[in-house]
Amino acid sequence: MSLIEITEVRKSFGATEVLKGINLDVEAGEVIAIIGKSGSGKSTLLRCINGLETITDGSISVAGAQLLDDEVHLKALRLKVGMIFQQFNLFPHLTVGGNVVLSQTVVKKTPKAEAEATARKMLERVGLGHRFDAYPDELSGGQQQRVAIARALAMQPAALLCDEITSALDPELVAEVLAVVRELAAEGMTLLMVTHEMKFARDVCNRVVFMHQGRVHEAGRPEEVFANPQTAELKQFLGVN
Ligand code: ADP
Ligand code: MG
Repeated sequence: MSLIEITEVRKSFGATEVLKGINLDVEAGEVIAIIGKSGSGKSTLLRCINGLETITDGSISVAGAQLLDDEVHLKALRLKVGMIFQQFNLFPHLTVGGNVVLSQTVVKKTPKAEAEATARKMLERVGLGHRFDAYPDELSGGQQQRVAIARALAMQPAALLCDEITSALDPELVAEVLAVVRELAAEGMTLLMVTHEMKFARDVCNRVVFMHQGRVHEAGRPEEVFANPQTAELKQFLGVN
């Protein structure tokens, strides 16, 4: 059994089918880059895995638990997969530490002292242990995104979904966020990343999934996919002839 099993998943918005039968199994510890043009369904796929969107057909299971369209299941599932977005979405009126504590105490009902200890540990992990009492607007964008990563990690997810998490950052801040992701990958975290950072995908990921028009159009090991793309669409996307 794979950690995440995505079988024949379809998702429509009204009459528009955005995911057209996605099959993807993710093993524990795998690091997968999802690439593809804007509008190909990458974000929708991650949102379906996280239960932020309900699927129209097919099935998704995480750690053996089926994602079913009822609140109890969705809530359980969201605890198993963390998600990080392009926008960091930190609460501006809470400190860095407060941000990382909050979801634990609210969603997981973790006692405050324990949540604080975990928050400190996770902030250490992303190199921000010393900013526990700072407010988000005192931090750079890269630091804020690292807080968002710490907040996701504090929920002890089985997998982390990252949707273009460096796209909103100034170029000089991208590396520090990717360094954190690289470290998580090395520690064995299961990662699904929508990314435009092709060099990072090549260096860090075990597998690259190219989406095109709502389907997995091509997939494989990075060295194969990048050096020897098979389809015209992937060649065009990568800018090779
Ligand atoms: P990507 O992340 O690859 O750019 P998305 O998953 O965001 O692609 O979007 C895929 C398609 O689904 C796009 O055509 C987009 O307009 C459409 N879409 C996404 N979310 C919604 C929504 N909530 N309602 C209607 N259409 C949507
Ligand atoms: Mg997207």
